[in-house]
Amino acid sequence: MNIVVCVKQVMLHDMADESKETGGTSREASQLVNNANDYYAVEEALKLKDRYGGTVTCLSMGPEKCQEQLREIAALGVDRIVLLSGRDFAGADTLATSYTLAAGIRKISDFQLVLTGEQSLDGETGQVGPSLAEQLGLVHVANVSEICSVHANKEMVVKRELEDREITIKLPLPALLCIRKHINQPRIPSVVGLMKAKTAKIPVWGPDDLGIEPGRVGLGGSPTRVVGVYHPAGKERTANGEIIRYADDQQCAAHILSKIGACDDKRTGVFT
Ligand code: FAD
Repeated sequence: MNIVVCVKQVMLHDMADESKETGGTSREASQLVNNANDYYAVEEALKLKDRYGGTVTCLSMGPEKCQEQLREIAALGVDRIVLLSGRDFAGADTLATSYTLAAGIRKISDFQLVLTGEQSLDGETGQVGPSLAEQLGLVHVANVSEICSVHANKEMVVKRELEDREITIKLPLPALLCIRKHINQPRIPSVVGLMKAKTAKIPVWGPDDLGIEPGRVGLGGSPTRVVGVYHPAGKERTANGEIIRYADDQQCAAHILSKIGACDDKRTGVFT
């Protein structure tokens, strides 16, 4: 089974602070890390490969410097990594992002399954997975809490978490799944993996490689506009945090409970 996993690089610094001045954010100028939620999707793909064979390709759209973070994914044992990058892709909203990723996946062409994380830790919309499925014309399931089985690369059975229950779904392949966080325990890279990743080739595909319509990518292809960024009145962030050190847990718990005034007995922290 050939699987494509989408991994985003997210900004480490506070997005809103930069937006105050520019009305937008620049991933080019920011320190980036791989989106933590996407490691669960990578792990699911590697587990499926271990069980059913095939390949795992990691696909990312971002500035060229993302190659550095993508090496961390290479170290986990994925077969191939592709980065979609170019000035024209900058400033993409979820529609333009999913359009561009869809073009990358079409170029990869030989796949039965596409996986995304449930949400990025900076944009946080959770829209890219379902939008990508629509662009590719794929069946999709979000909030996947378990991949149960795959049958002859033609159909698969997954569990999906809803607010009050879990449902089991059989779906035809090719398909797209948005993988919930904590579905698995992502592996740590081996020493061999780390060594291989140092020299791994990460091809960079730009607009000319993808056969895209120029008006549908980047800022120009994004109907979303950030018209202003503000902190709600009275909620300016302050540095009023308090670090409390205690010798034992009970003393610590009693102190916290006395602070929030939630317990009946302030001395013991016991609720009655
Ligand atoms: P989600 O939909 O939460 O991501 C779900 C999954 O999709 C991820 O776990 C991952 O698997 C996959 N995925 C998402 N993005 C990528 C990717 N790039 N490559 C590979 N896989 C991916 N961006 C700018 O560049 N400039 C801006 O000025 C700007 N302003 C923004 C303002 C606001 C208010 C918001 C909410 C976002 C802004 N963005 C901006 C971010 C941009 O819209 C998102 O980065 C992009 O559309 C992806 O959406 P998301 O982060 O919500 O991803």
